[in-house]
Amino acid sequence: MKRALVTGITGQDGSFLAELLLEKGYTVFGFARRDSWFGENNATHLKGSIELVFGDMGEGLDISNAILESEPDEIYNLASQSRPAESWARAPETLIVNALGTIRLFEAVRHSRPLCRVYQASSSEMFGQVRTSPQNEDTPLSPANPYAAAKIYGHQMARIYRESYGLYISNGILFNHESERRPLHFLTQKVAYGAACAALGIDDSPDRNEVGVAIVREGKLALGNLEIARDWGYAGDFVGAMHLMLQQDKPGDFVIGTGKLHTLKELCQTAYASVGFDWRERVVSDVALTRPLETGQLLADPTKAREVLGWTPKVDFDALIKRMVKAQIARLEQRVKVEEA
Ligand code: NAP
Repeated sequence: MKRALVTGITGQDGSFLAELLLEKGYTVFGFARRDSWFGENNATHLKGSIELVFGDMGEGLDISNAILESEPDEIYNLASQSRPAESWARAPETLIVNALGTIRLFEAVRHSRPLCRVYQASSSEMFGQVRTSPQNEDTPLSPANPYAAAKIYGHQMARIYRESYGLYISNGILFNHESERRPLHFLTQKVAYGAACAALGIDDSPDRNEVGVAIVREGKLALGNLEIARDWGYAGDFVGAMHLMLQQDKPGDFVIGTGKLHTLKELCQTAYASVGFDWRERVVSDVALTRPLETGQLLADPTKAREVLGWTPKVDFDALIKRMVKAQIARLEQRVKVEEA
């Protein structure tokens, strides 16, 4: 039976990946911060099915101890300060977790578990201010935020360790992937939440955004720059690609995305129309929520993933957004019930 160590187990991808690995018969070890694990998190339903190793990616020895304890055949390094928009305000933490934490993990593998296969969570944000579209594994990197810069360090070190020491480390360059498990501060989830508030007649939302203001205020959802476009896919599909990457004879870099570009306006239109509203009457742009430097139009060219891994996404944009809105409605209804009880 294979053993897998998943960092970031409490996150969106960690929880979907753990489900997939359990289905495949793996013994799964989740690396998590103690407080996060004992609070409500995305992997709460897996309690009893997975083993836990507690630690912090920012702490020197935690990750090497986790590797010694779990003796993994595969490691999926998903832990990250994962919010690009917040990475200016949290630049040192972003560097410590996303870059230093990653190199510590590679070093621990090199010294104590050199045959273990490693998946490194790279990001399309690394392409940043893109000059060519779509982007593939050879597109030059041009980061536009501290998150992307820290991810590039991990990405490049993965290649360097692969070539210098013969370690099996694959970089998954994943484009945006979403689900009902995304934290509320992410754009798609905010839009789903806004549409759910509209459906339930909530004009002032109980949840606040990253600048401390109600996400929906006086019936309006505030977003940053409305002119952006992204390649948005479903997280449940994308974790399948992570697993496939580590089943190949050789490690490599793989772009994972849908290959379809959608504007933020289309996203709002799909979400609000699914509950019978016109988004143009419900969404506003707030300059306080724009990024200091905007990432360009990120669009995946997933040809290599399709040809080498045999991977293609299954859930399309429409289905993804509708399921997220539905989940937000259910969550808000549940919250109201609890508050009324
Ligand atoms: P997520 O839901 O935000 O999860 C991030 C995970 O990292 C959480 O489990 C979090 O734990 C953990 N973490 C953060 N700081 C930590 C620390 N100091 N020590 C230990 N754990 C820590 O992110 P995701 O969407 O699942 O993304 C998974 C990975 O893919 C991340 O590396 C992300 O940057 C990358 N990625 C994501 C996307 C996307 O669209 N989702 C695209 C490209 C790349 P807590 O619960 O304790 O905070």
